[in-house]
Amino acid sequence: NHNWKLNTKGSDEIAVLSHSINQMSNKIQNYEQQRTQLFVDISHELRTPLTYFKGYVEILLNGEAKSEEDKVKYLTLLYKQSGRLQRLIQDLFDLSTMEQKGFTLQETQISLETVMINALDLIGPSIEQKEIELHVQLSPFPIYILGDEYRLQQVIINLLENAKKYSSAGGVIKVLTYKDNNNCIIEVIDYGIGIPKKDIHRIWERLYRVDKSRSRETGGSGLGLTICKRIIELHGGQIIVESEEGKGSTFKIILPILEGMKGGD
Ligand code: ADP
Repeated sequence: NHNWKLNTKGSDEIAVLSHSINQMSNKIQNYEQQRTQLFVDISHELRTPLTYFKGYVEILLNGEAKSEEDKVKYLTLLYKQSGRLQRLIQDLFDLSTMEQKGFTLQETQISLETVMINALDLIGPSIEQKEIELHVQLSPFPIYILGDEYRLQQVIINLLENAKKYSSAGGVIKVLTYKDNNNCIIEVIDYGIGIPKKDIHRIWERLYRVDKSRSRETGGSGLGLTICKRIIELHGGQIIVESEEGKGSTFKIILPILEGMKGGD
């Protein structure tokens, strides 16, 4: 009797073990599939601009662009495509660096206001160039966070670039920062095309785009939001989106405020 019980226990353990081995092997298979898919996607993303690139060079080499105007047109197209490639490769590099296990941020005590002003100084003029009004309302209280100034600036620029890309001329973009208990909140609000419900949970995925052709035209890599999410999570924060198709989008970042540096209320 005792032996019989022991045997059952043994076979139970084997069943549990074999179940977890199965689960593990499924996970590995899934991981392999995702990896393969990522390589397929990256190759596709690299191939597209290169195909255009080659085509334009051929036109120029064959002397098919006769007038000066035509030549400038194809050179401009070449320049645009090379910019796209450069952006894509930079984004891929950034993301893979940040996804490595030992990656650490260059964290220092930084002022949120400084991050915002630096980002706005860089991207503001190109927003105004598209005749989009920029309304900025920064918290009147000093807010300090422990963070990587360069990376956080990159997030704000990315969100503002998207707000610009997906708004039409004559639109408005709002930027707000404020305190909420022990967190600070940054909101980037646009009244542009918005994001369809069926896509909204996927926008954080690598290379995911709602409208591939439109996004390609605007020079996006489809990696911007993946990078933003990664940076904010490395800071112990959260990034969320609310959006309605045809009405606009609000991207909201929640970051912990540096303890003991909470400023006034
Ligand atoms: P992309 O470089 O293509 O803009 P992102 O990762 O930044 O890539 O964004 C992923 C997708 O999410 C975009 O292709 C676009 O479809 C959608 N998206 C991002 N921001 C906005 C926005 N402010 N308004 C509407 N759609 C947006």
